[in-house]
Amino acid sequence: MNKLKNKVAIITGANSGIGLATAKLYLQEGAKVVLAGRRKEALEKVAETLEGDFITVVADVSIPDNNSNLIKVATDTYGKIDILFLNAGIAPVIPITDITETHYDEIFNINVKGPILATKEALPHINDGGTILFTSSIVNQKGFDGLGVYSASKGALRSFARVLTSEVKSRGIRVNSIAPGPIDTPIYGKMGLPQDVIEEMGKGFAGQVPLGRFGTSEEIAKTALFLASDDASYINGIELEVDGGLSQI
Ligand code: NAD
Repeated sequence: MNKLKNKVAIITGANSGIGLATAKLYLQEGAKVVLAGRRKEALEKVAETLEGDFITVVADVSIPDNNSNLIKVATDTYGKIDILFLNAGIAPVIPITDITETHYDEIFNINVKGPILATKEALPHINDGGTILFTSSIVNQKGFDGLGVYSASKGALRSFARVLTSEVKSRGIRVNSIAPGPIDTPIYGKMGLPQDVIEEMGKGFAGQVPLGRFGTSEEIAKTALFLASDDASYINGIELEVDGGLSQI
């Protein structure tokens, strides 16, 4: 119950899905948690369900000032940071023939620029020996129709994490990425697709997974706990697939 006792963790995209499940688990394990999200009302609603030492901060990760403010509020409240979990992301679906500049900018601003700028802002405040986690995706290893820009964004994040791993090595900061497979979260309802198409897509994904099902946010949260804790003290620079085996076959 105390794997993260007194550790200070920032989680982006913490009011939903994987981020929320991780915030709950980190709090249970004794961490002080800064839950960051884009929507004030969603954060307030979620705050009512949580127990432990936490604050919520409204921050749109695609806006540079919001990232610096997030780090400022977090450090003003709790001091130095031990765990930075850059998890917020979007996955709108568009075939390559229909890609627009707006689609590209939206995905890259949230999925790539956001985590990169948040990392830069946070680095001076992360304790030596701390840890940075990114939510990547197995889409950077496989090709799923309609996810061209999304896949490219997660590939960019993976590459960034490799350089970061090297640049922070003198401080003993571990950098790892989690690559979920299909996980049952609200993200599918935000893809801009009709419900019947989402359901068909879901069946298609589940059928391809060797374990034959979607994963849960809690299964990713457990991975985010493992990678952030001392149990993973010699794990650094990796991308860990949590996908029921989908990326391996
Ligand atoms: P979700 O929609 O439940 O959560 C995404 C979170 O990111 C939400 O809290 C949302 O408000 C937040 N967010 C979106 N845009 C933001 C912005 N501009 N500023 C701040 N926050 C913003 O979905 P999820 O599945 O929990 O997604 C979490 C991460 O997991 C994402 O990076 C996603 O790409 C990744 N992922 C999900 C799956 C899956 O199948 N669910 C698979 C692979 C990777």
